[in-house]
Amino acid sequence: MIKVSGLSKSFGKQAVLQQISFEVPRGDVLALIGPSGAGKSTLLRCLNLLETSDTGLLRVGDLNIDCSQRVPSKTLQQLRQATAMVFQNYNLFKNKTALDNIALPLITAKGFSSTEARERAFQLLERVDLTKQASQYPATLSGGQQQRVGIARALALDPEVILFDEPTSSLDPERVAEVLSVIKSLAHRDITMIISTHEISFARQVANQILFMADGQIIERGQAKAVLDDASHERTRRFLQQLT
Ligand code: ATP
Ligand code: MG
Repeated sequence: MIKVSGLSKSFGKQAVLQQISFEVPRGDVLALIGPSGAGKSTLLRCLNLLETSDTGLLRVGDLNIDCSQRVPSKTLQQLRQATAMVFQNYNLFKNKTALDNIALPLITAKGFSSTEARERAFQLLERVDLTKQASQYPATLSGGQQQRVGIARALALDPEVILFDEPTSSLDPERVAEVLSVIKSLAHRDITMIISTHEISFARQVANQILFMADGQIIERGQAKAVLDDASHERTRRFLQQLT
């Protein structure tokens, strides 16, 4: 589970996140939707402390963090392991093979031996259907394949939560489905997921909760079907209408 209470963040005078509070129970999938500039990426980055917020309490599994305080490096490391991030532009190590991109965090963060790490990495490649590409470098993989390596790498840390920031928005339309199907295969197991996305049909298929935000505020949050089919707020309805 992940719980956020009173998270706020400003860049200079601009309040980018204002008193954000929500909770995602273990195994739930929350889709984060909202217009460009709403603060979705900033929120995800604050959740794994890639960005420091000004105020806010964060609870991930057993970890409790006060975002307004300096976080000890051990806690930071634990949080980063508990909240793996999958980025829009994949962020793979270019000079490492698909297999080694996954094996590396197992060695550095989990203390696996090189042999153990590569065995586990191979199993994770099986899970995203990429064993044939194990020894290829990112530049020789399609965007969809690179993103699936990114997802396998996130899974390697055995995280409590996976944070996806628009995982399909850099992909050609014909590659989107393969990545969405991998994410769907992970949904509603032990892993909690927060997925920022503009793909409303995907959000409908995979998410049980929807959080709509605009101008750094939560406008509406609720069961996916209820929000998507019968939003309470005019602003949510307008946003959804524009997309369809
Ligand atoms: P998109 O759908 O386009 O990805 P988003 O909802 O992810 O948008 P953010 O990237 O979180 O939006 O940006 C929220 C606001 O914060 C924007 O106004 C952006 O310009 C501002 N912002 C983000 N990062 C920084 C930064 N490092 N310095 C200053 N302003 C920033
Ligand atoms: Mg964004």
